[in-house]
Amino acid sequence: MREYDIAAIPGDGIGQETVPAARRVLDALAGPHGFRLRWTDYPWGCAYYGETGRMMPEDGLERLAGADAILLGAVGAPDVPDHVSLWGLLVPIRRRFDQYVSLRPARPLPGTRLPLRDDRPFDVVVVRENTEGEYSQIGGRMFTGTPEEFAVQEAVFTRRGVERIARYAFELAERRSGKVASATKSNGIVHTMPFWDEVVEEVARDHPGVELTRYHADALAALLVLNPRRFDVILASNLLGDILSDLTSALAGGIGIAPCGNIDPTRRHPSMFEPIHGSAPDIAGTGTANPIGQIWSAAMMLEHLGETVAAARLTKVLEQTVLAGDVTPDLGGALSTDEVCDAIVERLRHAAVPA
Ligand code: NAD
Ligand code: MN
Repeated sequence: MREYDIAAIPGDGIGQETVPAARRVLDALAGPHGFRLRWTDYPWGCAYYGETGRMMPEDGLERLAGADAILLGAVGAPDVPDHVSLWGLLVPIRRRFDQYVSLRPARPLPGTRLPLRDDRPFDVVVVRENTEGEYSQIGGRMFTGTPEEFAVQEAVFTRRGVERIARYAFELAERRSGKVASATKSNGIVHTMPFWDEVVEEVARDHPGVELTRYHADALAALLVLNPRRFDVILASNLLGDILSDLTSALAGGIGIAPCGNIDPTRRHPSMFEPIHGSAPDIAGTGTANPIGQIWSAAMMLEHLGETVAAARLTKVLEQTVLAGDVTPDLGGALSTDEVCDAIVERLRHAAVPA
């Protein structure tokens, strides 16, 4: 039997509800597909920070390093500044394990109510650069509390960093519809973004079968709202990709269902899978969190581990569950997190396991 070591970090808020939900579903799926998941739980996050002054122990990254993959819930709490929780846990994992691709597919699941009047299906993937760019610690503040106070924040774009994320996007587009939309703001940002454009165009020359179109991110956002069907792979920097993928997931039916993979394509390090949503303190503890974003992320994890048949079957069952209306209140349903899970596990039990 194939075995995988999975590090589970439920984190904060609804992560405490959605990660156990996903575990239950994966464990029900694994046996019939001939593999087993060995789970290790890491109780890190804002509560841990309250007790220890750190988001994770000093040797936290070393402890994760041997895992085959990481399943993360969400990180963040009202009483801990967001930059502390982000830079104390998520960013170190993404950078230390060189998870330079943040892969964020967005397509409506059949039967979901969409925010746009034109609700025909679409299928886009945001490929977000995940290790550099605008999310840097370089900069500072001076003259605090005086009228001269100011803040400086530097963005870092390396040739290696832009090249490898562009290559990933072009190779993905080759397996999809052959179109890459690259988002920058090179009219306003005069050093980094034109550099991004240059490097992306060099990479495009190695992929003559893929059509590259450059957009300003603001115009791209407007075009996405008008007609998401014109896009396939959207390639963007760390900040722009963050914003555009929240937009595409909202267009596809809400952040409760949107999945994300933080991937090291070289497979030297564990990749990390997490829903796009945060810890949702406003509904945490009510048992109403939508588990689908977490479970869809877990399906991406299975795909990454090579369990492609199980991943496809799980995705199919998610579609059937949503179509049947077995959903939480955010999708217009009346089920709890656990009841949605029950419905998914039940369908997995009855649907035939492909040979
Ligand atoms: P959020 O995604 O937590 O919540 C936004 C809104 O969407 C809330 O009304 C929430 O109830 C709803 N929502 C989110 N996920 C849902 C789900 N699965 N089912 C039903 N409703 C859902 O974003 P926020 O409120 O801006 O952030 C809350 C905290 O989470 C902050 O501390 C933030 O820093 C953190 N955060 C963490 C991550 C992450 O761990 N990767 C991502 C985003 C935000
Ligand atoms: Mn975001």
